Amino acid sequence: MLGLMQSQPLLISSLVDFAERHHGDAEIVSRRVEGDIHRYTWKDVAIRSRQVANALDGMNLLFSDRVATLAWNGYRHLEMYFGVSGSGRVLHTINPRLHPDQIAWIASHAEDQMLCFDLTFLPLVQAIHARCPTIRHYVALCGPDMLPQDSGIPNLLSYESWMGGQPTSYAWPSFDENSASSMCYTSGTTGNPKAALYSHRSTILHAYAAALPDVMKMSARDSVLPVVPMFHVNAWGIPYSAALVGAKLVFPGPALDGKSVYELIETEKVSFAAGVPTVWQMMLGHMKPDKLRFSTLNRTVIGGSACPPAMIEAFRQEYGVEVLHAWGMTEMSPLGTLCTLKNKHLGMSAQEQMKILLKQGRAIYGVDLKIVGDDGNQLAWDGQQSGDLYVKGPWTVREYFKGEGGDPLADGWFPTGDVASIDPDGYLQITDRSKDVIKSGGEWISSIELENIAVAHPAVAMAACVGMKHPKWDERPIVAVVKKPGAAVTREELLKFYEGKTAKWQIPDDIVFVDTIPLGATGKILKTRLREMLKDYRLPTA
Ligand code: AMP
Repeated sequence: MLGLMQSQPLLISSLVDFAERHHGDAEIVSRRVEGDIHRYTWKDVAIRSRQVANALDGMNLLFSDRVATLAWNGYRHLEMYFGVSGSGRVLHTINPRLHPDQIAWIASHAEDQMLCFDLTFLPLVQAIHARCPTIRHYVALCGPDMLPQDSGIPNLLSYESWMGGQPTSYAWPSFDENSASSMCYTSGTTGNPKAALYSHRSTILHAYAAALPDVMKMSARDSVLPVVPMFHVNAWGIPYSAALVGAKLVFPGPALDGKSVYELIETEKVSFAAGVPTVWQMMLGHMKPDKLRFSTLNRTVIGGSACPPAMIEAFRQEYGVEVLHAWGMTEMSPLGTLCTLKNKHLGMSAQEQMKILLKQGRAIYGVDLKIVGDDGNQLAWDGQQSGDLYVKGPWTVREYFKGEGGDPLADGWFPTGDVASIDPDGYLQITDRSKDVIKSGGEWISSIELENIAVAHPAVAMAACVGMKHPKWDERPIVAVVKKPGAAVTREELLKFYEGKTAKWQIPDDIVFVDTIPLGATGKILKTRLREMLKDYRLPTA
């Protein structure tokens, strides 16, 4: 017997409809590429998203055609989120920090029909457009007054003249909720990038889950600043969840330096912000010398790479801001786990609570986890044993776009490429990427743990740990360190700093001071590049 409830497909257009009707006057504030601050409301987003949909229809873009963006976090990008997906096309957010060759490859692989870009990326588009044969339309996200003349880009239109004159009414189409809505290529540190192709259904389920009290606890009382880019896994789904709850949204545009982000948090009374650790490092660095405080920020989600304990403690103890440590990946839309306490932890001391809060957290409903040992058998959730982490759920990929890379699943489970332990309460702790884990004398050493200890030292700005070949132990860890400007610390002092903080045999064999640590397009440390940089390095103990 079937249930007798109404059957209504879960479609992204319904989010912006809802935000318009119930939270029409909630604000959307954007720092623009032009440098000024732009303000309008969810009602305006809805109206202009419908104009975008009409403009797309006018260009004869078909259902499921890909519309690409190269854009910062801002209101026009938000309108594309709803106008493109809502009208049945697929929004392809491209990461502008990738190499131009890779961007041209991605645009062709996705068969993008149209590219909308912020003027910051004009030189990039000029460099690649001749290599993107599928793109028929180019739109610069600006008004006609800012449209560059003689750009060399065929038929370049300004966004405002393209969509501005369109009717403000539009009947959003109804279709199968499993239809593709947006796509995002993985960072692809090896081989060509592969695309996760999200559906309307996966996006809405993820948006519901992300807003839950044990996840981002988003509400109509929030002023939300996604520093995480809209080109990186849909800014962790925040634009969708914000529409679902009617939150105020604050977009930082291209100004991601500590000063600009801090000012925006204060002027727009931001209560909740989300980003990768490097962004917060810059902001805390800006705040410390002048002893600046937050007046409204009460929580921040930090993820994308391991959040150093020193940062979690600084936010909590010095600024009274709750850090929600999150783990996920492009293939998971991206949220997998998030760290909050359970009822039984409330009576614990602050120190005991902190031990839990440093982990990557508990699974969100909709995410199943398992860890598997070298022999292929599942490992116990004892908080001790680490193994390969597998996931499944309705917002995890089944396969990549165009079947790239074959069937990624093993028995229905997606291999994350991460190594983790899970404790009896279900708290996940990521030890490493499987290719980064260091094997010494048959035991595993977590490079994340050794990096976290290094960055807790006041003179260290950044640290990256890699394994080096060793004749006796197979591999031994060394840590590459970038010092803070003007700070002094020696190799010996840093090695001493490890004593008592980790097992003796896990203390790195060496510290190597470097000027920079190579970062990939999503701000993660590129260990492959670091290993190349250190190819002539020899261990002192080998
Ligand atoms: P991406 O698909 O670019 O978002 O990268 C996903 C990968 O980032 C994961 O598989 C992890 O290796 C890493 N990652 C994300 N969040 C965390 C975290 N909180 N701690 C450690 N690693 C993380």
